[in-house]
Amino acid sequence: MVADGAKHAGICFWKRLLSSQGDIAKGERNGCPCGHFGDPLRACRCEPALVERYRARVSGPLLDRIDIHLPIPAVPAGDLSGNGAPGEKSAAIRARVEAARGLQRERFVAQPGIHSNAHMTPREVRRYCLLAQPAETLLRQAIAKLGLSARAYSRVLKVARTIADLAGVPEITPVHVSEAIQYRVLDRARLPPVIRA
Ligand SMILES: [Zn+2]
Repeated sequence: MVADGAKHAGICFWKRLLSSQGDIAKGERNGCPCGHFGDPLRACRCEPALVERYRARVSGPLLDRIDIHLPIPAVPAGDLSGNGAPGEKSAAIRARVEAARGLQRERFVAQPGIHSNAHMTPREVRRYCLLAQPAETLLRQAIAKLGLSARAYSRVLKVARTIADLAGVPEITPVHVSEAIQYRVLDRARLPPVIRA
């Protein structure tokens, strides 16, 4: 999902990290020194303690500054031939993203310097990311279980707002919140194995 400026900022930040701390970022991307952890096609032979130690090299505050963490497994060469089921057309995705950006421009039209959900300060988050009870309860449970920081909480809300915008829905629902939480893969990975379920 290409969400908004927040996603772009996250990618830029990640690129800077890659260039400055190449091996740490590359390993963290895959979760272990051999780089195969979580890959469905290649076996990781690292000891669990080594995987945990490797992941711990990227600190929580650093992860909190990245909006979306998702595993992207290598695509088998055979799948690159284009014979698989067709995905959604880029033009349709573009139209949806442009509509969501339009909603955001309207939302912040009276606020100089704010053009998208990514630019929201805590004040705008409180105003535009209001959750009805079921969504609020879901998020509070996830925060307690994942141990999310206030910064990560705010990022989940902004991403959930963007997901709702992409769906053209005014209210952030539990579906949007749970999708945003799903994009915090490395927060979930930091949980001790017993809680990871
Ligand atoms: Zn490994």
